[in-house]
Amino acid sequence: MENEKNLSEGNKEEITEKMATEKNKSEYEEYCQMCRRPASIAGKMIHMPNELCICGDCLQKTFDSINGGNFPYMEMLSIDPSMFRFGGEFQKMPKVKKKAKAAKEKENEQEKVQALDIKKLKAPHKIKAELDEYVVGQEHAKKVISVAVYNHYKRVADKDAAIELEKSNMLMLGPTGSGKTYLVKTLARLLNVPLAITDATTLTEAGYIGDDVESVLSKLLAAADNDVERAEHGIIFIDEIDKIAKKRNTNSRDVSGESVQQGLLKLLEGSEVEVPVGATNKNAMVPMTTINTKDILFICGGAFPDLDKIIKKRLNQTAMIGFGSELKDKYDEDKRLLEKVTVEDLREYGMIPEFLGRLPVIFSLQGLGKEQLIRVLREPKNAILKQYEHLLELDEVKLVFDDSALDAIAERALEKDTGARALRAILEEIMLDIMYEIPKDDTIGKVTITGDYVRGCGGPVIEMRGSEE
Ligand code: ADP
Repeated sequence: MENEKNLSEGNKEEITEKMATEKNKSEYEEYCQMCRRPASIAGKMIHMPNELCICGDCLQKTFDSINGGNFPYMEMLSIDPSMFRFGGEFQKMPKVKKKAKAAKEKENEQEKVQALDIKKLKAPHKIKAELDEYVVGQEHAKKVISVAVYNHYKRVADKDAAIELEKSNMLMLGPTGSGKTYLVKTLARLLNVPLAITDATTLTEAGYIGDDVESVLSKLLAAADNDVERAEHGIIFIDEIDKIAKKRNTNSRDVSGESVQQGLLKLLEGSEVEVPVGATNKNAMVPMTTINTKDILFICGGAFPDLDKIIKKRLNQTAMIGFGSELKDKYDEDKRLLEKVTVEDLREYGMIPEFLGRLPVIFSLQGLGKEQLIRVLREPKNAILKQYEHLLELDEVKLVFDDSALDAIAERALEKDTGARALRAILEEIMLDIMYEIPKDDTIGKVTITGDYVRGCGGPVIEMRGSEE
């Protein structure tokens, strides 16, 4: 009895103590233990384990600092963003669309199945015809890429094949501005598949500063709106692949060259890779998903400077042996030397054999000459000249480039030696004054750009409205 009494008295004391602290708590305003601002200034407090209490701003800053501005943690912790004053700016956490969930996805799925139905695949000649509308010249490259892509998607569609078809990953050689990236971009758009473009120079062996090779899959996943299945049928273009050639005469660890080639091997071949969703690098709190790369088409591109010397050396060696020996400088002026490339030449350049073995389709693009540059200006569906003409058409002014102007622009581009890439910059420069002056004066009806104007020794020919008829 005595004991019980003591106990209940002890309890009482405890309870009154608790009540006192509760009372104290309610008497004092809560304050953020990080920034020390009271709730009346900092807003509603968030109670964390261990009696921690912080304001929305500080919690946000903490998330931002570990997450680079995204908000996935809040969703993970089931914190309602509306309790923060910045609720309006809340970005939705990217959701991984798991295979066949909502009805909408089912519809998409059906579309995809249709897209990968062998009978509905576009035949190579149709793919090439569509490429022709955008890409000037490069006939051989367009043909090779159309066939390779057709075969690739045939392989993807043919799930229960008795004969296992090999992947047709590609290696594309060609000088800058010859249209490598443009060709792949156009192709992906025509086929309506997601495309990720990455630069091999930014890749390093995992664990070193730079992106590890798997980051390219994150890019692809983002391009496919986080839809894993769509990403698995996408295209990855790795530009500047020549920059990861094995470094010669080096004693240090080659973290951005040969190791990257090694790292890419398993992706090219086809493997299951864990990929962070909504971020390019792995981080403890970022959700992960698995992507199988066996149906992803990899296209590698590079300018391979000095590869022509290696090819020339090989050709000269074979040409100089025996009775049939030819002139030593026969290949010096050969503009189509890159077409004669062999796997051995690329190995000598520093690409490892295993890597080359996974890129069975090798082809090259030609540097564009003057005629082709003029065609690039004028012919593609979204040609630069058409774009400017349309811009001025909106101001009801007719824009004309005469032949001498096109010649002059192409010549200036050739001097820069960056292929068709230079055209846009040159036109921007030429058109700046015109685009500035024309909207000022609504009596102008027609502007003709001449070769003299392009060369900087004359003005454009301007005609007033009504006088052109
Ligand atoms: P690179 O070979 O260095 O990847 P790009 O593909 O980036 O060159 O080409 C740069 C730009 O030049 C493209 O955006 C495109 O507008 C234009 N271009 C290059 N080659 C062609 C071509 N063969 N036909 C049409 N446009 C081209």
